[in-house]
Amino acid sequence: MKKILKGSSFFWALLKMNMLPLILLTLVITTFSAVRFAASLNVETKNGLVNLSHTVVTLYDTVYEGDYHAVEKDGTVYLMKGDHTLNDSFTIIDSIKAETGVDITVFYQDTRIITTIRTDNGERVIGTKANATVVEDVLKGGQPHFYASTMVEDVRYFSYYEPLYDANGTCIGMIFLGKPSAQVEELVSGSLKPIIVCGILTMLIACLVTIRFSGRLVNAIREMELFLVAIAKGDLHEELDQKVLERKDELGEMSRYLIKTQKSLQKLVEQDILTGLYNRRSGEKLLKRVCENYTKDGTPFCVAIGDVDHFKNVNDTYGHECGDVALTELSSRMKEHMRGHGFVARWGGEEMLLVYDGMHLETAANYMQELLDAIRTKPIVYGDVNLNITMTFGLTEGNGDKIEHIVRDADEKLYRGKNSGRNQIVV
Ligand code: GH3
Ligand code: MG
Ligand code: MG
Repeated sequence: MKKILKGSSFFWALLKMNMLPLILLTLVITTFSAVRFAASLNVETKNGLVNLSHTVVTLYDTVYEGDYHAVEKDGTVYLMKGDHTLNDSFTIIDSIKAETGVDITVFYQDTRIITTIRTDNGERVIGTKANATVVEDVLKGGQPHFYASTMVEDVRYFSYYEPLYDANGTCIGMIFLGKPSAQVEELVSGSLKPIIVCGILTMLIACLVTIRFSGRLVNAIREMELFLVAIAKGDLHEELDQKVLERKDELGEMSRYLIKTQKSLQKLVEQDILTGLYNRRSGEKLLKRVCENYTKDGTPFCVAIGDVDHFKNVNDTYGHECGDVALTELSSRMKEHMRGHGFVARWGGEEMLLVYDGMHLETAANYMQELLDAIRTKPIVYGDVNLNITMTFGLTEGNGDKIEHIVRDADEKLYRGKNSGRNQIVV
């Protein structure tokens, strides 16, 4: 994974492509849900307060018959309902608060006469005043009013004020019902939490899936890139990761074509066109590798240079095309012979380089004798013509010398063979 993250703009592009819309979508859904939920909760709270206000007013009308009026005694104003003094009469409002959690206040004019709201030290906030807006809207305006935010003793409320009238229809006071905003907000945040958690979880899962998927994709592309880099540098034997080759998608298809391209290039660069043998360049490369193995772990090897005897005569007598056929046939016999023992390369013209890998001179000479016999005892057929071809070989064992020296030694032996009757192996 580290390999992918390092400098893979494609990986990040994939991640961005998948994650950005998801993050945006989650944000939009969460915000939309929050706004919608808060709005509907506001409406619900308002309706709840209005209904409760009607209930409280009806309850007062039922329990204490008569009208609201004020009586002043010893400098204190008392709010009366019929014969009953509402001041200090907390039973109804306290029991409703206990049941619903809603605070209730009864005002005489703008002054709190009874209330369930208490200060921090537990005292009811009796005698305090309603704020100017409420006085203006409800007391003077004579209309009930809902406020999304009213401060009472440093506590924010969703509140509903309803005016109270005396027998003459004059607004004498108000009744307040309030639900602390914190309670409502707690409900909103409580309901939003699962949505947010779900959103984050979805994002995390999507992120993991994307990282895993993109990682595999980018890894495959990286492998193909490394493969191409090796080929561009001339290493035509680089191997491509099997997992990439086994992919069933377009990348797998591309990678299989890369291998076909590699094989075609190998053929073009390493093979001789006429005979299909390794050409001289790859022959040298392979021989170098065999020499390195000898140096590394002492694996023995033998090198031979072979040349077709009087090949010029074949061309001169039967034509160049016949010469080509003969060379091709000889090459395939040599290739067949060398299978599992080493390799054969076309060294130039009708000269071949044969390398016996993992063999000492005596064994190689025996094998080579079999090859020579196979060549000279079986004529090459070209149309009606049966060509009896022989070859001469110079064979030498590798000894840690430079490649040029080993080949020169084999070449000298070939030369000696040519000068001493041909159709033989000089060891
Ligand atoms: P020897 O090696 O026994 O001394 O005699 P030679 O006749 O084989 O002599 P030489 O090696 O000088 O001649 C090689 C000939 O092989 C000359 C060349 O035209 C021919 N030759 C080389 N490459 C090809 C080829 O690809 N196709 C054909 N048809 N002939 C080739
Ligand atoms: Mg020759
Ligand atoms: Mg020659």
